This record gives sequence, structure tokens and C-alpha cells, in this order.
Amino acid sequence: MISDFAGGRLTIDLGALQDNWRVLSAISPSSECAAVVKADAYGVGLAEAAQALAQAGVKTFFVAHLSEARTARAAAPDAAIYVLNGLPPGACDTYAALGVRPVLGSMAELAEWRAFVSATGADEAAAIHVDTGMARLGLDPEEARALFSSDGIGFRPALVMSHLACADEPDRPETERQRALFAELRSLLPNTPASLANSPGTLIARTSGGDLGFEMRRPGVSLYGSNPLPGRPATMKPVVKLEARIIQTRHVPAGTPVGYGGAETTRRPTRLAILSLGYADGVFRAAGSEHGAPGAFGFAGSVPCPFFGRISMDLVAVDVTDAPESATSRDDWVEILGDDFGVDDLARACGTIGYEVLTALGRRYERRYVGAGHAPLKEA
Ligand SMILES: *Cc1c(COP(=O)(O)O)cnc(C)c1O
Repeated sequence: MISDFAGGRLTIDLGALQDNWRVLSAISPSSECAAVVKADAYGVGLAEAAQALAQAGVKTFFVAHLSEARTARAAAPDAAIYVLNGLPPGACDTYAALGVRPVLGSMAELAEWRAFVSATGADEAAAIHVDTGMARLGLDPEEARALFSSDGIGFRPALVMSHLACADEPDRPETERQRALFAELRSLLPNTPASLANSPGTLIARTSGGDLGFEMRRPGVSLYGSNPLPGRPATMKPVVKLEARIIQTRHVPAGTPVGYGGAETTRRPTRLAILSLGYADGVFRAAGSEHGAPGAFGFAGSVPCPFFGRISMDLVAVDVTDAPESATSRDDWVEILGDDFGVDDLARACGTIGYEVLTALGRRYERRYVGAGHAPLKEA
């Protein structure tokens, strides 16, 4: 399909997504490997990603919002779906009607769910989130200890979980402290499955004190090809490829200021290609070059083409002087994300993390899904 001559073309490899899940799953075979598909599956498309992952064998999904749970429910009719951001006031009925599970993260949410279960006799599943060292969501350890050792929960939780704050830095001692505290708290609910590990926790698998896998792991970003352990070799397959269309090229002499602010000036006779994408498409302004400080690269063939000058909202200039003209002319495509320069490389060039690059991926790209069958989906 030619989609209105889009300026960018995003190819999403659902086969690589499935392979990444299989690799993560196999790291700790006795622990279920769920999939986190919040934020439109980290920008790659929730419906398509959830469908492909369910096909690969994922039984449990985590989203952040109820609206995302609807999409996930349509894509994976038989899966368990948890909503990480919990229970907004008055939402119990909606959760129950959709058959999706809130992750209850405060005493107020627990009280509301308990009241709903006792009033309706509903046998709906829910998870309980305990905070073990992040001060974000979840019961305090003291609250959890008191609640779990009493008979006061009022329903049978389907999962008890916590979230790791520092696992992307495997040498930090906090991860073992969180693991030990979580192990103690969950031991008060011995028949409830427990879950602690995100992507970095799944990849490091254990601390000096013990296993991080428990009964279920919850990787997100690594499924989508980003390496959550900076400094360790990447083991995930790239899932996204982004190419940008060349609108025009121009030859300019040395000493030509390029783009807004004239922030970068050519130092040699230069051939510039102007690409039809910009910061409105998630190519962050921080990826540009200014006053000789280099930014990110596109690739034409395998030739690196440095971004030149500031990134505009809808346009980027790249220096294609060293690339063959046959591959860098009007209506050719320059690869912005792919095997040569991936999500984590762009993140590094922008002073951010792969998570932000993925979730900022633009909405006006032509999107193509390859590598696994997928059917058009209807929302629940
Ligand atoms: C986002 C999130 C995850 C997944 O984290 P990744 O680092 O992307 O693997 C797991 N659990 C919770 C509670 C989250 O918010």
C-alpha cells in the first residue's frame, strides 16, 4: 500500500518480536514469561504485537491503562490482562465487564475492589502490587505485611507483584534488597503466584541472594529489541526499522550555514539530502548536530550519513557527500533505525533511553508489519 507518500516508513518485524519473547522465556523455563504491551506496545502497535505474542505462546499481558486493556483483549481473547496503573474510582464494573484485572496498588484501591467483590459476588481476578523500594505504586511493606498476615484481603489475589528500580545496573545492591523483601512478603501468600522481574531482571535472572524469576516475569522493552543492560552486549533482535524519504538534495559550498539558527556550517563542499521527518515524528531535536558536536546518523547503503544542523519539526538534513548518488537522490530512502544504527544508538545520541525512542515513534509513518501473520482487529 502506498500510504499518501508518507515521509517515513516504519517496518515492524513481528517474527523478531516473537523470537525475542522465546529467548527471554527460555532464560528461566520454570517461570512464566508474560509480555508488557503498555504504551501501544512501546510504540510498535499494541494490537499487532499482542496478537503476534499470543500466537507465540504468551498467556499474560500487562498494560498501563484500561483503554489499552480493551485493545489487548480484542487481540488476545483468551489471555489474562493486567492493568498496571490500577483501579480508578468507580471502574470495578468496567474491569469486570471486560474481564481484565486491575493491579491494586493502594489500600484505597484494595478497599474498593473488596467492596465490589463482596457486593456482587463477582469472582474477578486482581493482582496486588507491593512497593519494595521505588515509592511509586504499591502497598508499603508494613501495610502488606499486616494485610497478608491477617485474613483481611477479602478476595483471592491472582498475583502478587513488585517492580525493580535499579536492575538495569546489575552491580547495584538495591536489586537484591528488593528481591529479599519481596520474597519475605510473598511468603505470607504462599499460594499466590508472584512476579518481580522486568526486562533487566529477566536478563540478569538472579542476584547474589537468589532468583528473580518467581512464578512470572514481566519483560517489556527487551521484547521490542532494545537492550536494557547498557554495557552488556545486545542479545535481542531489532524489531523496528525506520526509513525516511529524501525530498530533495542540494550541493552547497564550504561555509554554508544549514537549518535553524545556522547552528551547523559546512566545512567542505557538501551534498545534503533533506529527509521528510523530524522531531514531530520522534526524531528528537537532541539528535541534531550543532557547532561541530556530532548527532545521530542515517545510513544509505551501509554509508553513515550524519545528521547536519538542527532537526526541524518535519525535516532533517543529512550529509550524503560520502554516499553514492544512486542511493541518495530524490525519493530514495535513508535508514534512520535498523541493523546499523538501532533504537539504543539513537537513544545514546540523544542522551535518552531506548524506551523513550520507541514510545515516541511517530504516528504519521507508513507502518508495515512483517514476519508473522496478523488479522485486522476489532476493538472490544
Ligand atoms: C513497564 C513495566 C514493566 C516492563 O519493564 P521493562 O523495563 O520495559 O521490561 C514491568 N513491570 C512494571 C510494573 C512496569 O511498569
